[in-house]
Amino acid sequence: MSDFYIHVRFLVSVLFIVLGINGAALAEQVKIGVLSHRGDASTMRHWTPTAEYLTREIEGMDFSIVPLDFDEIDPEVEAGSVDFLLVNSGIYVVMEVKHRISRIATINNLVSEQSQNVFGGVIFTSVNNTHINSLEDVVGHSLMAVDQTSLGGYQMGWREMKKVGIDLQQDLASVSFGGIHDEVVNAVISGKVDVGTVRTGILDSMADEGLIDLTQIKIINQQHNENFQIILSTSLYPEWPFSKLQHTSEELAQRVAIALLQMSQLDPAAQWGDYAGWTVPLEYQPVHDLLKELSLAPYDQIKRFTLKDVFSRYYFSILIIGLLIVVLSAMTLFIYRLHRKLEESKHLLEQHHVQILDSVADGIYGVDLLGNSTFVNKAMEEITGWTGEEIIGLNQHEILHHTREDGSPNPPLECPVYKTFHENKARFVEDDLFWRKDGTSFPVEYSSNPVQDENGKTVGSVVVFRDISNKRKSEEAARQYQSELAHVARLSTMGEMASGLAHELNQPLTAIATNADASVRLLEQGSSISRVVEILEKIGIQARHAGEIIKHLRKFVRKEEPELSRININKLIDEVLLLVKAELARTGVKVTTELETELPEVIAQHIHIDQVLLNLIRNAIDSLSLVDKQQRKLTITTAVLDKEHLIIRVMDSGLGISEEVSRTLFTPFKTTKEHGMGLGLSLSQGIISAHKGELAVETTAPGNTVFSFTLPYSRGED
Ligand code: ADP
Repeated sequence: MSDFYIHVRFLVSVLFIVLGINGAALAEQVKIGVLSHRGDASTMRHWTPTAEYLTREIEGMDFSIVPLDFDEIDPEVEAGSVDFLLVNSGIYVVMEVKHRISRIATINNLVSEQSQNVFGGVIFTSVNNTHINSLEDVVGHSLMAVDQTSLGGYQMGWREMKKVGIDLQQDLASVSFGGIHDEVVNAVISGKVDVGTVRTGILDSMADEGLIDLTQIKIINQQHNENFQIILSTSLYPEWPFSKLQHTSEELAQRVAIALLQMSQLDPAAQWGDYAGWTVPLEYQPVHDLLKELSLAPYDQIKRFTLKDVFSRYYFSILIIGLLIVVLSAMTLFIYRLHRKLEESKHLLEQHHVQILDSVADGIYGVDLLGNSTFVNKAMEEITGWTGEEIIGLNQHEILHHTREDGSPNPPLECPVYKTFHENKARFVEDDLFWRKDGTSFPVEYSSNPVQDENGKTVGSVVVFRDISNKRKSEEAARQYQSELAHVARLSTMGEMASGLAHELNQPLTAIATNADASVRLLEQGSSISRVVEILEKIGIQARHAGEIIKHLRKFVRKEEPELSRININKLIDEVLLLVKAELARTGVKVTTELETELPEVIAQHIHIDQVLLNLIRNAIDSLSLVDKQQRKLTITTAVLDKEHLIIRVMDSGLGISEEVSRTLFTPFKTTKEHGMGLGLSLSQGIISAHKGELAVETTAPGNTVFSFTLPYSRGED
């Protein structure tokens, strides 16, 4: 029947050519490239009826078959010289990846009278081979397959064996290829090879044709599938697809797909093609997976690119990267070590820091901008009774500084520690009060310094404080001692002045006695009362004068408790001059006073200033008594020195002070006098500095000695 058909076709074609009617000239040419695996004649015979079927079914199109060898497929598809392609599933998958062809239908094959759109592979051995019963047993035996490119006749079986861990190249005694299926079957039956693999349907149809007896064959890894009733050893894969090339229009592809799907199994095209019709295109992913797993084209490149290739291609980059990694690693190691060393140094420094802080006897603590304590040293803990754990994080003012000495609350905003970081200015507070944990208080002096971060921003302050209880006590003792000493010195001065004072008192007393006698006489003579009254008044004046002197004397020798009072220095000078009046008279020293009339008052200890003035005046008299009588001049002046101080000067034109004496002038017990104590100037200096003034000496001209002292004056409101 087939030969007859070809002849008819041939005659019709000749007729068309003779009559000049060329179908191709009337209709659009559509070419179907078909894998010509059994020769071009066979391909044309099998598939031309299918092309004709499509020409018939699709109006205006003339389909023709272009047989393509294995080698021709890739270039022809690339060149786009065919519009559709009908090749086996393996080649289709490669073309799909390389040239973006797409399937539009899958063939329904006819195997042992069954319609199948999937197929698989069969792995088998001779029934006589008792050693091989499973896939694993194939190891060490010889295998024959159809062809290296055969999907069903080689690759499917290969994949199954790979699944159980068999490496076909390594683990088998040999792998050979028979070229055609029948050859493989015969080689196994004849015992030429141990194992064979062919596509499904081959064994069944050879048995149907009586070429083999299936009882001679043992199937390995036999699969049972309800929908696939013929002998099978592997997974199933889709049959040949009919596919369109990228340039072929979707519309034409659709029309072809519909025509193919509508083809009846009885259609001559199916009959000639030995197939049962067409079905919707199947999923070809299993074929992709198989090729990938076996690293076959188009997935062979991936595997072939070995590590060696990577090295040879990217040698320089790898070298640079390697070097970089080495350098970076070395640097990282170096930095890591440096970091560790820094950490250690930091730790050590912190330890030193703590040690230093803890070895200081003064209390030290840090304060943040909220006024909370940030750290404390040991001395702070010991002095206050608070531990670091208790106090860190708490408000330092509320803990240490909340109440004043008089019991009134100390407002936080007036706290010098707050002011330090608010105004960013260091402070020193000489006299303040801190509170211990046990509720007792102690006097302190402290400094508060702002602390800045690395950007110069103030972040708090550090307070260094000292308990000044002992300092206060010793100051008090020193004051007491000085007071005692001053008293002794006053007594000594009075001792020295006794004869002069006695003379000074003698005068008014003698005058009183004389006047009293005169009054008596006048009364006896019966003189007028007014005359007697006059004399009595004189007596009164003399008595008061004597009384004044005694009053001053008493005051001067009294052991006075330190007591401040407002003093008019001019008046005080007059009083002192009264005490030395006899001495002045005796030595013939002339006193001049230049006193500032508007002199402000000072707040001072009267007796102490008396003592200073008396010392200076008596020293001057002593020095003046050593020079000619005409030269003996003493000048006392008072004046306002500046906005805060007044100045008192005692100037004499005496012997002057030698350089040697001037070096030890204020040293206690240094005297040039036979009966001197050498205490006068050192006591005076102590007294004046206790009054926040200054005692100084200068020589204005040879023999002109000026002792001066300043005192802060009161502005009235104090
Ligand atoms: P004393 O008067 O007991 O010696 P002072 O301390 O008052 O003790 O004086 C110490 C010494 O200073 C005196 O011995 C004297 O040598 C010297 N001196 C003090 N005042 C004068 C003065 N105005 N002129 C010369 N020398 C003076």
